Amino acid sequence: MTLTVFAWTVLGLILLKWAAQLWLDHLNKEHVHAHAAAVPDAFKEIVDEPTYKKSVDYTLAKARLEQIETAFSVIVLLIVLFSGVLPLAFHWFQTHFGSSAWSSAAFLLSVGLGLSLLGMPFDWYAQFRLEERFGFNTTAQKTWWLDRLKGLLLGIVIGYPLLVLMLKIVEWTGRWWWLWAWAALLAFQLVMTVLAPVLILPLFNKFTPLPESSLRERLMQLAQRTRFRARSIQVMDGSKRSRHSNAFFIGFGQFRKIVLFDTLIQQLLEPELEAVLAHEIGHYRRKHIPKMLVFSALGSLLGFYILSVLAREPWFYRAFGFEPGNVAHAFLLFGLLAGVITFWFSPIMHWWSRRYEYQADAFAADVMKEPRSLIGALRKLNEKNLSNLTPHPIYSGFYYSHPTLLEREEALNRPGR
Ligand SMILES: [Zn+2]
Repeated sequence: MTLTVFAWTVLGLILLKWAAQLWLDHLNKEHVHAHAAAVPDAFKEIVDEPTYKKSVDYTLAKARLEQIETAFSVIVLLIVLFSGVLPLAFHWFQTHFGSSAWSSAAFLLSVGLGLSLLGMPFDWYAQFRLEERFGFNTTAQKTWWLDRLKGLLLGIVIGYPLLVLMLKIVEWTGRWWWLWAWAALLAFQLVMTVLAPVLILPLFNKFTPLPESSLRERLMQLAQRTRFRARSIQVMDGSKRSRHSNAFFIGFGQFRKIVLFDTLIQQLLEPELEAVLAHEIGHYRRKHIPKMLVFSALGSLLGFYILSVLAREPWFYRAFGFEPGNVAHAFLLFGLLAGVITFWFSPIMHWWSRRYEYQADAFAADVMKEPRSLIGALRKLNEKNLSNLTPHPIYSGFYYSHPTLLEREEALNRPGR
């Protein structure tokens, strides 16, 4: 197939993104190497020599795997887009299952599942070789395969009806379909934020109420002090999969529950756990979650609008060997290509998310009346998770949603914070 101007542009964008990723990786690797010889002064109090060395090795090992994975996915994307395999597969699909919305949705889902299947060996390697080597992996093979199976079934049970609905909306509503599709997706997402904690999370993890204890007492008092109404504090068996740790809350209004990883409870002292929870409550009190939801809703509105414009243009389909007319193909191409554009916006998104992290940190230090507990918690979490303490600033701009440990400590210790 001969490439059209648009196809050449897409090819250029894909290669440009890849080049940028390689350059960022290179930059970061140099930066880590430059600080690898000895623990930098700023971290002498925080980590010992062997742990620091291990965090450098972990960072570099992850970067190597990510590079291979990126190269692989770029090659797959190029083959999928430019070999003509997609129109061929669709033709086969159409001859066997017709060209209804139901059949087109099944085609889209199959392509999506096929692509995620191709990425599975990398996930497996990351978990059972890389994470294993650095002592993080606690997942049993059986759990891992069951997780994949559950994910696949959920993808079909939830994804398929949603795709059918989207394609039906195009049929039903005409010119303004993108507005309707956006509204439907939004409604779906809102329903899912309520249902997922109840229906989906328990499929993967066990949640048990935190038993009566001084810790529970302390956390409940914190919730009261910060006017954070929570029905209960739950402990999640994160240790079933990994030694990495976390805390979050789920649900809305009176159904809200605080969730702590069991690994977090093992790693932190009581005041540190309180500070971590205070940080999470800070996100809530500062209304970060609805703000993020509004922002992502506006983002998807823009996405749907652009998709609707592209879906009207015959050159959009022909560039990749499709006959114009079936909007499902526009959905597919848009899904495959959106990443080459959104990648460039990640520094803005992360800048914004880091601002929220600082605000939540400040909130935690305020309600704790001291920054030490949070700093203690952050230090331990960085150490236990072998976080890269010295990422290159440009690299972290593209990939880090949280400020680095040093940045957070500086902000917390700033006088007059
Ligand atoms: Zn946070």
